[in-house]
Amino acid sequence: MRKKIVAGNWKMYNDLSETTILLAALKEQVFPEDVNVMVAPAFTNLQYASDTLREHPVTVAAQNMHQSEKGAFTGEVSAVMLKSIGVETVILGHSERRAYFNENSALLAEKVNSALSNNMTAIFCFGEELVDRKAGKHFDVVREQLEDGLFHISEKDWKHIILAYEPVWAIGTGETASPEQAQEIHQFIRKTISENYSEAIAENVSILYGGSVKPANAEEIFGQKDVDGGLIGGASLDAESFIAIVNAF
Ligand code: PEP
Repeated sequence: MRKKIVAGNWKMYNDLSETTILLAALKEQVFPEDVNVMVAPAFTNLQYASDTLREHPVTVAAQNMHQSEKGAFTGEVSAVMLKSIGVETVILGHSERRAYFNENSALLAEKVNSALSNNMTAIFCFGEELVDRKAGKHFDVVREQLEDGLFHISEKDWKHIILAYEPVWAIGTGETASPEQAQEIHQFIRKTISENYSEAIAENVSILYGGSVKPANAEEIFGQKDVDGGLIGGASLDAESFIAIVNAF
């Protein structure tokens, strides 16, 4: 059965003292039992977050990692390092990584492999840009991103994958896909997985929507049949709005 998930991507926000305050507010909350809550702090605060939330149901995720287990890759962090501090979930392929750090599908396929071979869960992000949507190419772009970055994995590996459809034009812009647009493409994503793998895999994978989700629109977006939650950027930096989004389910 697929899970309901709300994940906060804190990006390069929140130093240690801000992280401490935000985590303390989240720790006080009793979230609905059927919603998996995740937060992805900056690398410098991951160990603190992981230690602080060890006995708490909120999962700590990394925002990225290198595809190799170790090596002369200055400034990088590996799956093995993340696991050593208790972090077992990683966001891969966020549009900001694709756009500003040249992460392409071939590289992302390697990162997915590293996550899977280290028994981590990968939140695999993908989504079209505005020009693609305007040209009516969003279905093709999304299918290609999935085929090239993810569809090499085996059937058994799907239980370690969470998908995050994030139209680039809706990230941090205040522009949100309408609930109908979200449902339409999430349904398409499920159909594409079903055609390439099986209906059971397609039905069981959680597909999150990301792009300017806020307390005011979360309920309608999460209410769509094929939307299993959200990857939240800006609104996850404020405890009150993130908690309201989790409770919108
Ligand atoms: C994101 O960064 O994944 C995101 C969805 O950001 P925002 O919610 O700010 O649009």
